[in-house]
Amino acid sequence: MKACLLRTPARIQENPLEFGEVAAPRPDSGEVLVRVQVCGVCRTDLHVVEGELPPKLLPVIPGHQVVGRVEENGVGAARFARGARVGVAWLHKTDGTCEYCRQNKENLCNAPLLTGYTVNGGYAEHIVAPQDFVYPIPEGLADEHAAPLLCAGIIGYRCLRMAKLTHGAKLGLYGFGAAAHVAIQVANHWGVHVYAATRDQRHQKLAMELGAKWAGGGLDLPPVQLDAAIVFAPAGEIVPVALKALRKSGRLILGGIHMSDIPSFPYDLLYQERMIRSVANNTRKDGEEFLKLAAEIPIRTHVQLYPLSDANRALNALKNDAIPGAAVLQVQS
Ligand SMILES: [Zn+2]
Ligand SMILES: [Zn+2]
Repeated sequence: MKACLLRTPARIQENPLEFGEVAAPRPDSGEVLVRVQVCGVCRTDLHVVEGELPPKLLPVIPGHQVVGRVEENGVGAARFARGARVGVAWLHKTDGTCEYCRQNKENLCNAPLLTGYTVNGGYAEHIVAPQDFVYPIPEGLADEHAAPLLCAGIIGYRCLRMAKLTHGAKLGLYGFGAAAHVAIQVANHWGVHVYAATRDQRHQKLAMELGAKWAGGGLDLPPVQLDAAIVFAPAGEIVPVALKALRKSGRLILGGIHMSDIPSFPYDLLYQERMIRSVANNTRKDGEEFLKLAAEIPIRTHVQLYPLSDANRALNALKNDAIPGAAVLQVQS
């Protein structure tokens, strides 16, 4: 099958992904073989390709926002009919036995397998995944519009829930890429007012088009005090800036898997019961709830399509803030 393979992490400017022919995977027991239609491009893929996340499997096929069709069931797999439309996301599998799994916190599993990082992902024509960790994709969402929901969407949703927003709340979104452009639509649906801080003017424009009350630079102070803020940008220097924008007891949620160091800041920014919390991965329940909600609202993702062979170009564009919304690789046309 055709796939994009990472042999050695390197800066994306060096185009480290090799597009070529590799052996197609076979479904193990309990697994499904999925024919990939599209695969969303996530900033985490960039962290994998550039080695900001320490390599766990090399060579590896990145990609963890797969929408495709079940082509074959492994032994004992019967959840999905052949041809069913499904999604494969970041959480490939958990051990199901560690203390976190037993406390319904499988997102924190001590021994998870992660799609496109510790096991091969969806920058390829086929992928295998355990049937229990695969999502049915609701009707009414086109493949390419559903793909960015599988990570950007689900993680954004978990961040929104952690922010404990009520109707009329004021929410700051720092960084306005794939995750934020979905999160704002959920926030609007809940009657939450969004203030978007992002360095790129195209992203500010998209935020306003999607109903933000205000859009400004990444380090600008919004015109109101915020009840909560979510940082999606992988830039630690934003943390004290966002804290400064919070009212007393406000919540700051950090949505990224990787962030540059957070500079030291005066305790006053945190005092008055403000709190900071990171979000790590998601549970299957988050994913199921969110996909249902996304179809109900309905969420409209803005996507830029690239052929599978152009994954390097898509990741370069992502790094250069050149994608309003989300990039998606078109694997089958
Ligand atoms: Zn576990
Ligand atoms: Zn992701």
